[in-house]
Amino acid sequence: MRELEGRVAIVTGGSRGIGRAIAEELSRAGASVAVVARSADRAEAVASGLECRGAGFACDVADSEACRDLVAAVEESLGPVDILVNNAGITRDNILVRLKDEDWEAVLETNLRGAFNTTRVVARRMMKRREGRIINIASVVGLTGNPGQANYAASKAGLIGFTKSVAQELAARGVLANVVAPGFIETDMTAGLPEEARETLFGRIPLGRFGTPDDVAGAVRWLAGPAAAYVTGQVLVVDGGMVM
Ligand code: NAP
Repeated sequence: MRELEGRVAIVTGGSRGIGRAIAEELSRAGASVAVVARSADRAEAVASGLECRGAGFACDVADSEACRDLVAAVEESLGPVDILVNNAGITRDNILVRLKDEDWEAVLETNLRGAFNTTRVVARRMMKRREGRIINIASVVGLTGNPGQANYAASKAGLIGFTKSVAQELAARGVLANVVAPGFIETDMTAGLPEEARETLFGRIPLGRFGTPDDVAGAVRWLAGPAAAYVTGQVLVVDGGMVM
C-alpha cells in the first residue's frame, strides 16, 4: 500500500544508517523524499536510488539560517512539506569529568538545536495548511540516562520534552508530533562499541537481537501515515524490549 502517495517528507541525516532506511521506507510508501546531510554527495546518492521522487540536500542542521534555506529549497523542488523527520544526530562520548565544552556543545547543537531549527520553519507552514507530521528520533538513553553519554542523553531527553511541547502547541492546527526512541541499532554510530559492551547490552534485549535501521523505519512510516492520525505527543520505543 502506498499510503503516503503525494506527500513530501524531509529526512535529516538521511545519507546513512537509520535516516537512510527511513528515507527508503517513506519512499516505498509513496512519498517524495528530501534526503538531508552535511555531505551533498552522499545525500544525492541515496536520493537517486529511491523508489519514488527524491532529492539530496546539503545542510548542517545546527545552522538555523541554513535550515531556513533548506526548507525553501525543498519546497521549490518537491512541494510543501507534509512530514519532517529529525533524525540527524551525533555522539561525543566521555565520562562527565572528561567531557569538554566542545563535546557538550556539538552534541546539543546537532541533536537538539538541529531539531528546533528545522521544526520552527516547517511548523509555521504546516500550521497554515492545517496538517503535518513531525517525527523526532531520540533514544532510549533519553529515558534512562547512560554512563559516558551525559551530553547525548541530555540532548535526547531534551528532544522528548521539545516534542511534547510542540505536540501541545500544534494539535489544534492538525499537526502531530511524536518521538521514536530506538535502542541499540547496528549502524556506523554503534560500530565502534567494544565487544564486551556489546555483549552486556545484548543480554538486556528480550527479543535476542540488535535492531536494524529498518526496525526504526517501520515505526516512522506508521507514525507518518493515516493509521496514526490519533497519536500525538508520544514516545514510541523501538528496542526489542530492552527498556520497559
Ligand atoms: P549515523 O549512522 O552516524 O548517521 C548519522 C546521519 O546524520 C548521517 O546521515 C550524517 O550525515 C547525518 N548528520 C550528522 N550530523 C549532521 C548535521 N549537523 N547536519 C545534518 N546531518 C547530519 O547515525 P545513526 O545510528 O543512523 O543514528 C541516526 C539517529 O538515530 C541519530 O539521531 C541517533 O542519535 C539516533 N539513534 C541511534 C541509535 C543507534 O543505536 N544507532 C540508537 C538510538 C538513537 P553527514 O555526516 O554527511 O552529515
